[in-house]
Amino acid sequence: MWIKGGRLIDPANNRDEIADILIRDGRIEGIYPTAGTVPKGEEVIDAQGMWVLPGLIDMHAHVREPGFEYKEDIESAGRAAAAGGVTTVVCMANTDPVNDNPSVTQYIIRKAARVSRVRILPVGAITVGLEGKVLAEMGLMREAGCVAVSDDGRPVEDASIMRRALEYASTFSLPVISHCEDRNLAGSGVMNEGPLSSKLGLPGIPAVAEEIMVSRDVLLSGYTRVPIHVTHISTKGSLEIISRAKQQGIRVTCDVTPHHLLLTEECVKAYDTNTKMNPPLREASDRQALIEGIRMNLVDCIASDHAPHARDEKDLDFDLAPFGMIGLQTLLPSLMKIHLEHDIDFPQLLACVTRNPARVLGLEGGTLSPGARADMVIFDPTAAWSLTEEMICSKSKNTPFIGQAFTGKVVRTFVEGTEVYPAD
Ligand SMILES: [Zn+2]
Ligand SMILES: [Zn+2]
Repeated sequence: MWIKGGRLIDPANNRDEIADILIRDGRIEGIYPTAGTVPKGEEVIDAQGMWVLPGLIDMHAHVREPGFEYKEDIESAGRAAAAGGVTTVVCMANTDPVNDNPSVTQYIIRKAARVSRVRILPVGAITVGLEGKVLAEMGLMREAGCVAVSDDGRPVEDASIMRRALEYASTFSLPVISHCEDRNLAGSGVMNEGPLSSKLGLPGIPAVAEEIMVSRDVLLSGYTRVPIHVTHISTKGSLEIISRAKQQGIRVTCDVTPHHLLLTEECVKAYDTNTKMNPPLREASDRQALIEGIRMNLVDCIASDHAPHARDEKDLDFDLAPFGMIGLQTLLPSLMKIHLEHDIDFPQLLACVTRNPARVLGLEGGTLSPGARADMVIFDPTAAWSLTEEMICSKSKNTPFIGQAFTGKVVRTFVEGTEVYPAD
């Protein structure tokens, strides 16, 4: 298969040029200056005017299987991912049963091999049942195919358990992903704490609830000399703590979500439960700091925190509805929106969903290097469209982006050279 004349953007190789790309046996055979002639017998895809990108790695998603298949399952999440240019989905452990042992890990991997269009890589729990008390069998989960450990959905509250988790995980070279939230400070909050939450009469989650645990985890990482990845940071303060730690040589990395880069707490004013997430949407100054964090390479990754919930669950009063929004299918279009609204180089944003998560998790992929697996997206950077509910491939439709205009659309997605989007 010969992909002709597209703009190849590959942050892992600092490549950004018009070129042809040859795919053979599911791998990238070579990249060539775009030329008039194509060897006979090759299938040709004309990509003129298109961008050709490495398939995205979404390092934080909730696929909901096993246990919550009415919200989403491995098949539907894979479809949403493929439609969004995501070829690798890293899925969190808060399923039912929890992925805290190798049999659940194996179930996810086998099921994904059967029904998913994209690669699904499970994250194992840090503690049994996500209860924060007893460390899970990380070595066995690693052998079964887990790529990291996290109690995401819940923080690991006990600092000594977190310290032992870092030490234990490092013996298996398993990255640790931390959801930072002091639950006592967060209390029963449902949105960012500040003047707006008082005005709306909703209980708030203060920024310090996140920052206090980011501080703790950074200190534990420095003390144990084990790297840590802090997921979905949402405040200026968290970024400042991480920035200082990086300067001190502590091996901390972090990600932010597209919604924290595009939206602020102002969206909550309409009491739309699709704007209720954890961490909550913050103030404009936080959003601005996170954008600057990307520009300054302090933010390593962008991840969707795809969190499907059924309509009747979200159809409750704001303080009763569950936290989270879906985001797999809008991940790449959201990056384009950030690029256009904030004048950040697109390749820099792309690095946050390709090269960087591959590095943080030690994964193959996230690049168009010759020899690499041909996980790729063809993206039309000029297509203008608006998100409708009918377009959403996920079983759940909980996103505040419905009705929003986007520029740039996924045209085709390939996993190991096989087209997975559009599907027949
Ligand atoms: Zn979380
Ligand atoms: Zn999450």
